[in-house]
Amino acid sequence: MTDAPEIPVRVRPEIAALPPYKQGKQAGADAFKLSSNENPFDPLPGVLEAVQAATSLNRYPDATAGRLRARLAERFGVDDGSVHIAAGSVSILAQLVLATSGPGDEVIFAWRSFEAYPWLAVVAGATPVQVPLTDDARHDLPAMAAAVTDRTRAIIVCSPNNPTGPIVTQAEFDAFADAVPANVLIILDEAYAEFVTDPESVDGLRVLGADGRANVVVLRTFSKAFGLAGLRIGYAIGHPRILDAARSTSIPLSVTAHAEEAALASLDAEDALLERVRTIADRRDRLAAALRGSGWRVPAAQGNFVWLPGGRETLDLAEAFDAAGLIVRPFAGDGLRISVGEEDSVEKVLRIAASVVKDLPEGHSGRGLA
Ligand SMILES: *Cc1c(COP(=O)(O)O)cnc(C)c1O
Repeated sequence: MTDAPEIPVRVRPEIAALPPYKQGKQAGADAFKLSSNENPFDPLPGVLEAVQAATSLNRYPDATAGRLRARLAERFGVDDGSVHIAAGSVSILAQLVLATSGPGDEVIFAWRSFEAYPWLAVVAGATPVQVPLTDDARHDLPAMAAAVTDRTRAIIVCSPNNPTGPIVTQAEFDAFADAVPANVLIILDEAYAEFVTDPESVDGLRVLGADGRANVVVLRTFSKAFGLAGLRIGYAIGHPRILDAARSTSIPLSVTAHAEEAALASLDAEDALLERVRTIADRRDRLAAALRGSGWRVPAAQGNFVWLPGGRETLDLAEAFDAAGLIVRPFAGDGLRISVGEEDSVEKVLRIAASVVKDLPEGHSGRGLA
């Protein structure tokens, strides 16, 4: 940004070079906000009441969110020490990268993947190493394993991949983990795990349970399927000593009592949760199929979003959706991510998508093979 005023103090050059953070657009009153993979449903039954009943605002929260830790440990059949709670799983990503990687170290991840990854590596002072996705927008795990050097400290695997949608299979993950040195941390980011319907998918809890891989930490969140994005709470499951190291880098007392209570109440509402997740996954499958039917080349969609490969036309395409009251997330030069939102948004998305696909040039990456 050449016209931005200079920073008046001395800042680390790699930080000064980062583009200022831009949140997904806020939606106008009559627009659908499909830009942040949020859950379109109200909180699960019992959640608002639990938040209201939570501790007084003048008291600090329990530093380790002990009740939620114990509850998740019981649910997943691990010790309390193998669970770590933080203010969103992005916080845990940051903690793990800080704990493992500094100047001269490398952090490997697929690209395109979650926008936070390169930034987290840079903030830690480490070097981000991006390994391109395959043509069908999937992780290229053999290439990621081949990118490991003696400087590699952490590798992030995102399944399903945000923003493109495909999963990593269990077989792919196992072969990858076998190929990576056992002293390199593998972070398996499963922010969308609950929406996965592909039986071949990797399952972090199976990785940790049966195989007992000590260098794998699994991340999950209450932000997406559980619909608590606004309260900021997520968790990690992994080796207790790795989680201790993460905790050492964390800002204390970031998880509020209200977030902990809301998470506990959400876990109590499992049946309602599963019903919602099924509704969103069905809606996603319908949306992806209809988009393909209209001529779009949509990669496998296993999260609560679909990906349109927009290429150079991406920003123009986003404008067209925007003008129709649909706020989507464009990644300039690459593609658009559209969250699965309210039922009423689906038909609108399909209408605009079907009209803009016709204008794409011959041979465009967004066109289906049909
Ligand atoms: C949304 C998301 C997260 C989690 O975000 P929090 O709200 O911080 O828990 C983590 N990873 C990916 C890939 C995501 O899309």
